[in-house]
Amino acid sequence: MRVLLIHPEEARNLYDFKGIIENECLDLEYLYAILEDAGHEVLLWDGKIENRKAAAVIDEYNPDAVFLSGRDFQENFLLEYAEYAKKHNPDTVVIMGGLHAQLCHARLQKPYADYVLKSFDFYKVPELLKLPLHEEERYDVLTDMDDICYQKEGEWLSNPAVPFDINRLKRPNRTYFYEHPDNYNYLDLPHAAWVRTAYCCPYRCKFCMRNKMNLGKYTRRDIEDVVDEIAEIPDENIYIVDDDFLFDEDRVRTFIRLIREREIRKRFICYGRSDFIAAHEDIVKDLAEIGFYYFLVGLETIRSGDMDKYNKRNELANNERSIELCHKYNVHLMGMFILDLDFTRKEFKGLYRWIKDHELKHVAVSIYTPELGLPGSEAYKDRLITDNPGDYDYLHLVCRPDILSVGAYYRNYYWLLIKLFLKAKREGVYDFLDYGTYIRDFVKGILCVK
Ligand code: SF4
Repeated sequence: MRVLLIHPEEARNLYDFKGIIENECLDLEYLYAILEDAGHEVLLWDGKIENRKAAAVIDEYNPDAVFLSGRDFQENFLLEYAEYAKKHNPDTVVIMGGLHAQLCHARLQKPYADYVLKSFDFYKVPELLKLPLHEEERYDVLTDMDDICYQKEGEWLSNPAVPFDINRLKRPNRTYFYEHPDNYNYLDLPHAAWVRTAYCCPYRCKFCMRNKMNLGKYTRRDIEDVVDEIAEIPDENIYIVDDDFLFDEDRVRTFIRLIREREIRKRFICYGRSDFIAAHEDIVKDLAEIGFYYFLVGLETIRSGDMDKYNKRNELANNERSIELCHKYNVHLMGMFILDLDFTRKEFKGLYRWIKDHELKHVAVSIYTPELGLPGSEAYKDRLITDNPGDYDYLHLVCRPDILSVGAYYRNYYWLLIKLFLKAKREGVYDFLDYGTYIRDFVKGILCVK
């Protein structure tokens, strides 16, 4: 069969961050390898970097099956392309999957889709492709197949999902990644290859959907196999995309030892928590020595009460200490903050002041977003101001704020972004960015918002 794998674009405007942060489609590359092993011909299309439209690729490739994967804010594009594929050829098998499908499979159960995969078990896809789409007998198999939703006589049925053991994954097929050497940058690090060593996260922060992936079960790879994989990748930059790579001290120490023993020279990016960084100066020093360049750290807040409110199980002092240690050992700490819905003007200003005082150069701010499908998010249903999933991108308010009006909140938000961008420009970070375009857009945001 000819199978088309689709990862839609994230937005159709400036905030697609094209050329700035482009994420390798690793899950689709795992599926690519599995499908090839099963004898299928595969084509991958990544809307983030492609110039050709998805519809043109569907028309030209005429796939027998399409698998679409994305996040909640890509839902509109996922559905648009699924519908197009089915209209193009009603015999095309249309399968929806990815992170959004794990939490929100019901939202993807449309008449033009055939299956929704609710787990990371991509081995289910070739099993589904063996079933004749229009024959009754396929239901004998589907009834007992975990992890999937399927249509029967116009009604969607949903089977139980089970956690996936990440050690079952084979190596991804990175053909598409290597065919695009000028893409997949992470800020100033070009062509950064994604490596995943674990699914899910052992923590349970309330705002975070990551810890609900894989049914909340943290599963991780043998670290020697991870290092083997890194050694096989010719690119210099490696983005370890685990939700929290800096979790198990012994595992991280083994990783450092293996990288040294094998004399692997790379630059690394990883997510980690400030409590781990603060408590392990020796590890931070070693990680810096073996090439860790960015730690992506959810600092989240500068207000002590928020740590408990978010169930972060952390302290503000760790945030400060982690910044100090990263300065000391020359690792860039990308501090990620939540702009809570109860922010006042003073708190927007206070956050900027704190960032400046702590000489934090790399910063990302996200508007608090009760994620679609996340337990607890239903508490916000009466204050929702949008039903467009495309707004769930952390750049938009999806709820009425507690104190400020929507307009005042956005004005403060854009003003904070302008100050952060000007600060970054003064400090020479993100020099590769077209600041003018973004700042003009933020100013427009201030002027246009009511
Ligand atoms: S915010 Fe970070 S530490 Fe907390 S659950 Fe999510 S990924 Fe884990």
